Amino acid sequence: MAAASRRAIVTGGGRGIGRAVAGALTRAGYDVTVLGRTAKTLDDAVAAGDAAAAKVLDVTDTEALSSYLHGQTVDILVSNAGIADSAPFAKTDLAHFRRLMTVNFESVVAATQAVLPGMIDRGFGRIISVASVAGLKGYPYVSAYCASKHAVVGLTRALAREVAKTGVTVNAVCPGYVDTDLVRDGASRIAAKTGRPAGEIATSFHKHNPQDRFVTATEVAAAVVWLASAEAAAVNGQAIAIDGGETA
Ligand code: NAD
Repeated sequence: MAAASRRAIVTGGGRGIGRAVAGALTRAGYDVTVLGRTAKTLDDAVAAGDAAAAKVLDVTDTEALSSYLHGQTVDILVSNAGIADSAPFAKTDLAHFRRLMTVNFESVVAATQAVLPGMIDRGFGRIISVASVAGLKGYPYVSAYCASKHAVVGLTRALAREVAKTGVTVNAVCPGYVDTDLVRDGASRIAAKTGRPAGEIATSFHKHNPQDRFVTATEVAAAVVWLASAEAAAVNGQAIAIDGGETA
């Protein structure tokens, strides 16, 4: 089947990495629906030609997410919506852990469970989650974020084996720091707490990357397009680092 007849859903597709993924899949010929909270950014994505359709939905409302996805033909699910927050572990209360787990992990479970039966019936599917290098190794002051992204990677590996004979593959991409609102807001929050300049904090983020630069959303999107392709059928259960060698 040609990419043009395949339908893709990208959560958090209105901006940042999700927007780049939506645009790259659209240009590769997929019929893309972006899903997220803000009508304006989603509509902008459609108007700019990065997606064919948009749906306003908060992924933490897992019932609404499931009922929207149930019964639809979804060939490629890109679970990208996510949030980050930082704090020392001693100041990370359970509410903080639950908030990050709900957005970053439970939404992936709900969306995947809703689309998987149809994919198995049709004998083709691509479950692709945007995890993080924080799903592959630990970083200080982001225990909840790391736990949520490790959960996504664990789910990816387990489910990949479970559905290996069905034509469905399950993979994650694990970017290093990408210059998006998520990282800029994180730098501003750290600046407010520590008094350090936000620009200096943002620059310090990409010191983690041996290439000493931010990864680009386009580079992450290219990996997603490849994982979505028919040719990537043997790639299953992988958590692919796109990080300039940070986790090597
Ligand atoms: P971003 O803040 O620009 O985008 C996040 C997207 O998720 C936005 O569209 C936002 O509206 C959406 N979103 C958040 N909560 C949502 C909710 N409850 N319901 C629906 N949509 C929601 O950030 P980004 O950097 O593009 O992040 C995208 C993904 O990439 C996230 O999962 C993030 O953890 C991951 N990631 C980012 C980086 C980075 O350095 N920027 C690195 C590794 C992984």
